[in-house]
Amino acid sequence: MKGKRLPVVLALVLFAAAIGAVATGALAGGKEDSTEQAVKAALKDRKPKNVIFLLGDGMGTQEITAARYYLGVNHELNVDRMPFTGFDATWSVKPAASPPYLPDYDPDSASTGTAWATGDKTIDERISQGPSSAENVPGVNLETVLELAQQQGMKVGDVSTAEITDATPAVLAAHMSLRGCQGPANMGACPLETKAAGGLGSIAEQMVDHHVDVLLGGGRARFSQTITGGPYTGKTVVASAQAQGHRYVTDADGLATVPSGDKPVLGLFTNGNMSLEWSGPAASTGKGNAAVACTEGQRPANEPSLAAMTKRAIDLLDDGAGKKKGFFLQVEGASIDKQDHATNACGQLGETVAFDRAIGVALDYQASHPDTLVVVTADHSHTSQIVSEDASGSGLPTGYSTNLLTKDGQVLSLTYGTAGYGGAGAPPAAVPPSQQHTGAVVPVWASGPGGLAVLGTNDHTDLFQTLGG
Ligand code: MG
Ligand code: ZN
Repeated sequence: MKGKRLPVVLALVLFAAAIGAVATGALAGGKEDSTEQAVKAALKDRKPKNVIFLLGDGMGTQEITAARYYLGVNHELNVDRMPFTGFDATWSVKPAASPPYLPDYDPDSASTGTAWATGDKTIDERISQGPSSAENVPGVNLETVLELAQQQGMKVGDVSTAEITDATPAVLAAHMSLRGCQGPANMGACPLETKAAGGLGSIAEQMVDHHVDVLLGGGRARFSQTITGGPYTGKTVVASAQAQGHRYVTDADGLATVPSGDKPVLGLFTNGNMSLEWSGPAASTGKGNAAVACTEGQRPANEPSLAAMTKRAIDLLDDGAGKKKGFFLQVEGASIDKQDHATNACGQLGETVAFDRAIGVALDYQASHPDTLVVVTADHSHTSQIVSEDASGSGLPTGYSTNLLTKDGQVLSLTYGTAGYGGAGAPPAAVPPSQQHTGAVVPVWASGPGGLAVLGTNDHTDLFQTLGG
């Protein structure tokens, strides 16, 4: 399915179908509804000036549905404002010395990130390099959609609630055999790729060297490490960024007041991943906890929210002489995945809601800048499942679960069942081990010029072209 674009004929058929729906009165009031207007506009303008790509890490259909139900079944999410929806397969490939590379049905964020960022399948753990015989054997560097945007004179931004060197943001502005080689002191498993060995250096170094106009997220500890090769030997990665003209900010106030213009902005707001928005009960086995609501408002005020980072990133990218050619921005809600791994239902839901608020920021910008394409997806599916609220105890989930009291006053039971047993025949472990990703297709939403390309069932590699590759 690689390289597939929506054929004009198919698009026209869809448009005609929408017109037909109006003619038969299927749409309220007999006038154009918002989807029909969106189809018409997307057929007229097929090439966007600006691209905003938002990725909810691990945000499969269960995760977005759980957030929807928690807020109330009639609560409209921002993502519901997007007219075009499809599905993407996300499989990766297994290591081999040469093609054909066999499919791996349960990918990670590095391989799927490489898929949407470069248009090519690769092996798990890998950051925008092709496959090879083993994870620790570097592959061929693959050009990314961010690099292509820069070549076209566009401004570029990369935002995450994870360390900004984590796999999803890294795939845009780094090339590395193993996703763990994030800072100069973390290069033990990637010895051929250090600057001292003639390589591009750690992911943090590469992201700075790429002169990304806006880099916002966590991961300050990686950037505080000392560079061991190349022109900035002996400096920290932050110091190398400042020497290359980046403005550096470390809290919400600094981000709000950093001057606009054409100087790149590096914002690192925590040492590791950024703080969670919500907290709640730990998952347990058997019937689980008495249902309670999540505790909201847990993020410290000195850390900007994902929505605030998205808003400021757009402000900075849509400014200065460089704005004439448009911009490419990636925004990641990273800890949906991380809290899904941790069986932390409220943590996961709070991050999903925060991600949806960032989607709202992008769509509000698009409303006044209709030459902007907004695409939303996940990079792989995950564990959490909405299961029956069990009064009798006869159908309890076999793994860990959490019972939450929704805004509708009802019990939402979420189970985490892809890990958790102490071994064959043994009872569940006292502390839940990390849950696993799952291999289901992920939803893709789009709005704006070029957005029709996500319709139908496609492959994640197709997003590369949709986003400008
Ligand atoms: Mg990620
Ligand atoms: Zn994960």
